[in-house]
Amino acid sequence: MARPVRFNIHPKQADIHDNIALSDPPNGINGEGYFATSLESIIALGRKNSIWPLPFATSCCGIEFMATMAPTYDMSRFGSERMAFTPRQCDLLMVMGTIAKKMGPIVRQVYMQMAEPRWVMAVGACASSGGIFDTYSVLQGIDQVVPVDVYVPGCPPRPEAIIDGFMRIQDLVGKESLRRRNSEHYKALMGSYGIQ
Ligand code: SF4
Repeated sequence: MARPVRFNIHPKQADIHDNIALSDPPNGINGEGYFATSLESIIALGRKNSIWPLPFATSCCGIEFMATMAPTYDMSRFGSERMAFTPRQCDLLMVMGTIAKKMGPIVRQVYMQMAEPRWVMAVGACASSGGIFDTYSVLQGIDQVVPVDVYVPGCPPRPEAIIDGFMRIQDLVGKESLRRRNSEHYKALMGSYGIQ
C-alpha cells in the first residue's frame, strides 16, 4: 500500500483531501522564531473558525440545513459542527423557514438570550422577506424583530448557498473590531430594535 496511509477516503475524493489548506494567518510581523500580530487579529481568527450556530428551523429550509450538516457538505469543516439549541452557548442565530408573526417575539427572545458578540443569518426567502407568504399571519422578514448580518436568497437555498452565507458571516466575524459592540453606532442599531 502506498504511503502515507490515508483512512476513510474514497478514491474520487483523494484530490480534495490533498488540497486542504490551513487558515491564513493574520497580518503581522514574521521574524526568525517569532510572529507578532494584534490581539484583535488573533481573537478574530479564533472566532471566525469556531462559530457555534443555533439553528432556528421552522419549515422546508430547515431540511436544506440538515443536508448542509450531513457528510456531503459537512459544515463541521468550518469549525461549526457544534450545533446547540441553547442560546447562551451560541454566537450565530440561523433562522431557516417561515416565521409566523406569533413566532416573531420568540425569535427575538432567543436572540436576546445570546451573549455578545452574536450574529444572525436569514436563510431563505421566508426568513429574509416572508417569501411567497405575503399574508397577514407571516412576518415579512426577521429583520423586523432582530438585526440581520447576512441574507441567503433562495426557496429553498441549496446547501452551497447556505455555506456561502456562512462564509460571509466568517468574513464579517474575522474583520470585526473588538470595539464595535461598544460603539454608539451599534448601540443605536440595538436601540432601533428596542434592545439595550
Ligand atoms: S424559502 Fe421556500 S423552502 Fe424556505 S421555508 Fe420558505 S417556502 Fe420553504
